Amino acid sequence: MPSENPHPSSTGPYDLAVVGAGVIGLATALEESLRGRRVAVIDAGAFGLGASWAAAGILNTRAGLLGNSPFREFHLRSVGAYPEWIARVESASGRTVPYSRAGDYQIFPLDDPASRLALHEREDQLFREKAHAFTVRDAWPDFLAPHAAPGPVRVFHYPGEAYIQNRVLLESLTEALRRGGAGLFPGARVEKIGRENGVNVLEAVAEGRGVRILADQVLIAAGTGCNEILGLLGLSLPLSPVKGQLAMLPRFYSQDTMVHGVEKFYLIPRGDHLIAGATTERGVDDTEFNALGDAYLTAQLRRFFPRVKPDWVETWSGLRPRCADRLPVMGWVDEAAGIAISTGHYKSGISLAPLSARCLSALLHGEKPPASLAPFDPWRAGALQSAAA
Ligand SMILES: Cc1cc2nc3c(=O)[nH]c(=O)nc-3n(C[C@H](O)[C@H](O)[C@H](O)COP(=O)(O)OP(=O)(O)OC[C@H]3O[C@@H](n4cnc5c(N)ncnc54)[C@H](O)[C@@H]3O)c2cc1C
Repeated sequence: MPSENPHPSSTGPYDLAVVGAGVIGLATALEESLRGRRVAVIDAGAFGLGASWAAAGILNTRAGLLGNSPFREFHLRSVGAYPEWIARVESASGRTVPYSRAGDYQIFPLDDPASRLALHEREDQLFREKAHAFTVRDAWPDFLAPHAAPGPVRVFHYPGEAYIQNRVLLESLTEALRRGGAGLFPGARVEKIGRENGVNVLEAVAEGRGVRILADQVLIAAGTGCNEILGLLGLSLPLSPVKGQLAMLPRFYSQDTMVHGVEKFYLIPRGDHLIAGATTERGVDDTEFNALGDAYLTAQLRRFFPRVKPDWVETWSGLRPRCADRLPVMGWVDEAAGIAISTGHYKSGISLAPLSARCLSALLHGEKPPASLAPFDPWRAGALQSAAA
C-alpha cells in the first residue's frame, strides 16, 4: 500500500543501506559496521525470520580440502572461516553463539540402487577433492545401532563437521548491529529507489508512515524477495523459491553429532531435540508446514530409524533463494550508483555468510575481495536482465 504521508521523514545519510535482514544482509551489514561505516538495515518483516531462521544450520565440508569448482572452493573457505567469524560476532554482540564441531555420520543403505548411486557419487567427490578427514565402515555406529533399520549399510564418519544454532546467530548479528549504532528498520517495505544530489534515496513505508532513507551505497540482500527490489530498478533475476519443510523431535540418541541418511535426510541436534529435514520443493512459495512435509519426514525417519516415532514438537518451513544456474549472485548491479546485490545462496547461505560478507564489504570499499566474485557476477549470462526482457 503506498504511503499516504505527503511529508515522509528523512533519515541518514548512511554510508550503506542493506535491504533484507537475513544472514546475508546482517552479516554484510556487521562487516561494514565493524569497519566504522554508518549502516542502515531495512526489512519488510521482522529481522531474521526468513530462510535464515528456517535453516538447519549445517556447515558441511564433507571432509573436502579442495573445491572442485569455484562454488565449492568458496563454500569450503567460508565454512573454514566460521570459528574466527563467530568469535567476532560474539565479541560485537556480547552473546554466545552455539557452534559445534561434533561431526557427522552419513548412512548409505546398500540394498537400494538409488542409495548405491549416491554412494558412488560421494566417493568420487571425496577422491576428487582429496578429502582425508573421514573414516568408512560397513556398520552402524554403536549409539545408533539400537534404533537402526535392518540391512547392509556403508557409513561415513566425518569427525570435523560443524553446525551452528542459526536462530541465535541471527539474534546476535542484530544485537551486534544495534550496539554498533546501526539504523534498524524492521517492518519497512521499500517502494521506490531513486537518486537525489548523488545519493540513493530509498522510500519505504513502515506502519503506514513513509520514511526516506538516504545512503551512498545500497546492498540488495532480500533473499527470495530480491525481485521486488530489483523491479524498482527495472531489473529482474531468474530467482525462484525452493521450499524446505522441517520438524523437530525429541533426541533419541545421546551424541552431539549430525546424522545424514544418504543426501536428502538429516538429523541435527538442537538442545534436547533433533531437527529433521528437509523437503526440496521447487517454485513453491508458501511457508506452511503441510501434509507433504509430514509424509516426507515421517517416511525418511521410518526408513533409517523404524522404531523412532515422528513425534514432532515443532514444524516449520522456509524458502531457499535459488538462481536458475544454482549459483549465488554477488556483485555490482550498478557500480556508478553504488548498488550491489548478494543473494541466490540457495541451500548454503548459512555456510556462505562469513566469506560472502567479507567479499561484499571489500567490493563496496573498492578493494579486491578475498575470493573472486567473477563466477557469481550478477551480469553473467542467465542472471540479471531488464525486467521488460
Ligand atoms: C529448510 C531450509 C534449510 C536450510 N538449511 C541450511 C543449512 O543447514 N545450512 C546452510 O548453509 N544453509 C541452509 N539453508 C539455506 C539458507 O537458509 C539460505 O541460503 C539463507 O538463509 C539465505 O539468506 P538470505 O539472507 O539471502 O535470505 P533470508 O534469510 O530469506 O533473508 C531475506 C530477508 O529479506 C527480507 N525481504 C524480502 N523481501 C523484501 C523486500 N521487498 N523488502 C525488504 N525486505 C525484504 C525478508 O523478510 C528476509 O528477512 C536452508 C534453507 C532452508 C529454507
